[in-house]
Amino acid sequence: MDTDRSVGVCGCRAVMPVTIHNGRKIMHKENLSASEALKKLKEGNQRYLSATSNPGDVSPAIRHETCENGQSPYAIVITCSDSRVIPESIFTAGIGELFVIRVAGNVMDKHQLGSVEYAAGHLGCNLVVVLGHDHCGAVDAAINHKPGGYVKYITDEILRAIGSEKDPLRASCLNVERAVSVIKESLDIKEGEGPAVCGAVYHINSGEVEFLDQ
Ligand SMILES: [Zn+2]
Repeated sequence: MDTDRSVGVCGCRAVMPVTIHNGRKIMHKENLSASEALKKLKEGNQRYLSATSNPGDVSPAIRHETCENGQSPYAIVITCSDSRVIPESIFTAGIGELFVIRVAGNVMDKHQLGSVEYAAGHLGCNLVVVLGHDHCGAVDAAINHKPGGYVKYITDEILRAIGSEKDPLRASCLNVERAVSVIKESLDIKEGEGPAVCGAVYHINSGEVEFLDQ
């Protein structure tokens, strides 16, 4: 797999990645800018607040179209595996719109970083959102329990983010902020270069997404 990036007339970073997949060249549609993608996420969340089902496009037509022409998701979303947190529903998105990375506690490790690097570098995503949430079992486990087994890898990472914070919502915010920092530092993303990386918290009762530092 390879990517050929063209430079737009304004000299901005390429928005039309070409992916070579199994010897076949796939020209992706023009990706949204970070600010356009953020606006779309916010609008999608507003629609979700009064929705009773997900009106995102999952039709046979979009399946065929994305199968033939490849995917051009407009945002990368890293979020928790919690069954109450469904990114495509939360942002009213359908097939081909969001590149979603899910892991309990939305913690970052090399596999998640590789996924972000791939989607930003090869699919042309210009926005990365780390989406934590309230009432998070992983955050609660880190604050109040001492889990063993593989769960400990997750809670240890959360503890590195939250320190001695005991308030669950503040801890979730700190955990999101750490993931944002890890992404920027690990992928060497400078301000104004590469994809924009931001944090957000999803409120599972109201359905509202609160973007941090906005
Ligand atoms: Zn969670």
